Amino acid sequence: MYHLKHNFSLKSNNTFGISANAKHYLTVDSPEDLILFFRENNPEKNEERLFLGAGSNLLFVTDFNGIIIRPEIVGIDLISEDNDVAVVEAGAGVVWDHFVDWCVERGFGGVENLSLIPGNVGAVPVQNIGAYGVEAESVVAEVKGIDLDILECKSFNHSECQFGYRTSLFKAVLKERFMVTSVIFNLTKQPEFHLEYGALKTEVLKLGKINLRNIRKAVILIRESKLPDPSKVGNAGSFFKNPIVPEAIGNVLKNNYPDMPVYHAGAGLVKIAAGWLIEKAGWKGKSVGNSAVHDKQALVIINKEGATGKEIFKLSEMVVKDVLKKFNIALEREVLVIGNQQASFGEPK
Ligand SMILES: Cc1cc2nc3c(=O)[nH]c(=O)nc-3n(C[C@H](O)[C@H](O)[C@H](O)COP(=O)(O)OP(=O)(O)OC[C@H]3O[C@@H](n4cnc5c(N)ncnc54)[C@H](O)[C@@H]3O)c2cc1C
Repeated sequence: MYHLKHNFSLKSNNTFGISANAKHYLTVDSPEDLILFFRENNPEKNEERLFLGAGSNLLFVTDFNGIIIRPEIVGIDLISEDNDVAVVEAGAGVVWDHFVDWCVERGFGGVENLSLIPGNVGAVPVQNIGAYGVEAESVVAEVKGIDLDILECKSFNHSECQFGYRTSLFKAVLKERFMVTSVIFNLTKQPEFHLEYGALKTEVLKLGKINLRNIRKAVILIRESKLPDPSKVGNAGSFFKNPIVPEAIGNVLKNNYPDMPVYHAGAGLVKIAAGWLIEKAGWKGKSVGNSAVHDKQALVIINKEGATGKEIFKLSEMVVKDVLKKFNIALEREVLVIGNQQASFGEPK
């Protein structure tokens, strides 16, 4: 089935809790229904589109003057299993953390470090979500969906997905063209645990044995202690990406700021903690109107109450400007800004 609504309020469809409306809002509960809708209604070819999951990585700065499409395709199916591997398909509308729980309860490893990341399965390969030393690309075997430009079902195997740091083929070349309808995951029944990141191993050992359940519990405990719960305080997790720079630049910065956290990021490259840069630029805990940089985690911008998307965007611009001035590093937003911010604010200074 499909349902189409008009002038639809998105306030409860984005974790920032921003008031914005969509001109058209379509929900579908199967891939066939999406194709049916497009055949029956023939929406304007150049109408702006946005695929929406749980809205946990978006910032609406204006109303959305096009069609939002939300797949509500649910269901988790075990496709095959042997002694080593379980192959599982999950619908785009499945809540990601329900999927993680489902896997952990069955002893299927690979996603436990990604516990409690908000959002739905459909966005997982798009964003190539990551946490605690693991990225979704390590378990995604195949991504199925619909190419809306030609109204055809298509699937991409792992090597075709062009995964990168919080990006993929679906976020770049096929953005707003290919809607993910389900994802096939290769999970392991002989798990290799990834406990190198931060205090994860210590937290797991406090709970007892190293196993999938305790890793999931420890990740949840750490996340709950550090990150604001979007059901209580509007936010979209990390607002900025951790910048990746050539090693030579990293070395110069490290000389000037010996306590700067720097991580290896592939041949000749290093990753710098954006939260640290923002804190040192003096922004941790600072407010602008109803928006603020979180006082525990400077990478997160929050809606204190009643903030507009424009206010939050403006705060992010001020942070970018100050980090650039102090460190000569241009922060890039991880959150997708939706709406015409140039028209709203003029050229960023
Ligand atoms: C408190 C908090 C903590 C977070 N922590 C992390 C973290 O540790 N690691 C991390 O990686 N992320 C994190 N995030 C960001 C967010 O949870 C992820 O990016 C998540 O995958 C977004 O899922 P969503 O369903 O909400 O997608 P949305 O925000 O609705 O959409 C995100 C992007 O994916 C596209 N998209 C969504 N569904 C589809 C689909 N079916 N087909 C094609 N495109 C689609 C959208 O068009 C958009 O470009 C955090 C967010 C919050 C609020």
